[in-house]
Amino acid sequence: MHRIAVIPGDGIGLEVVREALATLELFVNNDTDLTMEWDVFDWGSEYYLEHGKMMPENSLEVLKSFDAILFGAIGDARVPDDVTIWELIMPIRKEFQQYINYRPAKHLKGIQSPIQNNKDIDFVIIRENAEGEYSNMGGHLYKNTKQEVAVQNTVMTREGCEKVARYAFNYARENNYKLVTSATKSNAIVHTMKLWDHCLMNVSESYPDVAFHSVYIDALAASMVQHPEKFGVVVASNLFGDILSDLGSAVVGGLGVSPSANINPEGAYPSMFEPVHGSAPDIAGKGIANPIAQIWSLALLFDHLGYSKQAGLILSSIESTVRDQVVTPDLGGNNSTEEVGNAIRGRVAAALQGGKI
Ligand code: ATP
Repeated sequence: MHRIAVIPGDGIGLEVVREALATLELFVNNDTDLTMEWDVFDWGSEYYLEHGKMMPENSLEVLKSFDAILFGAIGDARVPDDVTIWELIMPIRKEFQQYINYRPAKHLKGIQSPIQNNKDIDFVIIRENAEGEYSNMGGHLYKNTKQEVAVQNTVMTREGCEKVARYAFNYARENNYKLVTSATKSNAIVHTMKLWDHCLMNVSESYPDVAFHSVYIDALAASMVQHPEKFGVVVASNLFGDILSDLGSAVVGGLGVSPSANINPEGAYPSMFEPVHGSAPDIAGKGIANPIAQIWSLALLFDHLGYSKQAGLILSSIESTVRDQVVTPDLGGNNSTEEVGNAIRGRVAAALQGGKI
């Protein structure tokens, strides 16, 4: 029996997680191969406004006993962004050593991509998720004076860089991607990025069957727009990977269809699965948020726990729903969050009943 912790969070997180949970429930009730139970936690900005913290003191201890975490989104105009991020998402990612952030950018047929080249776009961004530019080391002095100074340090370690490099090459090898591209900027960031380059190059030598390119981040961003079909696995530091993954989601149709995983590859702690998008306050409560990124994140969770057939069924049901143009307004349709969720579940249910899994 696998146990899942569910944190819907804020804004549209609540709406799209509802659809993912209904999908999970469908599997639990109809697929005897999948045994899962889950607990839902009401942590987030509402919790903060009531209790003065984003989650209870012992929350990491509580989460540790679960096999995986399904996360919605966080963000609320009434709570500063650095509080919502650094008191909820970051502690989970860091304490649970989720040092791999995995974001597929796969173009589903039926979705309008801004890139009109009719070639298959299917690449994966693997981002270092624990150190680098988001290390939170530095200081800010003499605030609001002429002498004001701020310093933010980037921390890269050989171990951190090599671990993400190995993960990227293994992933490429196991999933038949022929090329690993590293995002760098070692011409200008000469200390940390040179260590990054060195580690990537070293690790690449153990994978002669996978081609390796190191490309400056500025040229890489342009190339991802001009020739996204060329990429296989893109491996990047925390900041570069963060930016590239929003670009990746834009070229395949937007944030509404972009899932992600924060992975602790050793399995010592639970990994966390969440859509790339945030709480989208502009559409929250309207019932029109696209649930695909969240339901696809559930598929990544299934895959991570060994339910790869079930993950594949979710993905093919999403593809078929999109092909039939049952889509929310962000994809040019006029269906609601619930209608898209129901359409995906209808296809899952038909396959489960027909024994097609
Ligand atoms: P936050 O502060 O929580 O990050 P945000 O609005 O700055 O919120 P996102 O939530 O990522 O950032 O949203 C960016 C834009 O994309 C918004 O216009 C939002 O409506 C749109 N968007 C994000 N997710 C979805 C979704 N699932 N369905 C439809 N539109 C979405």
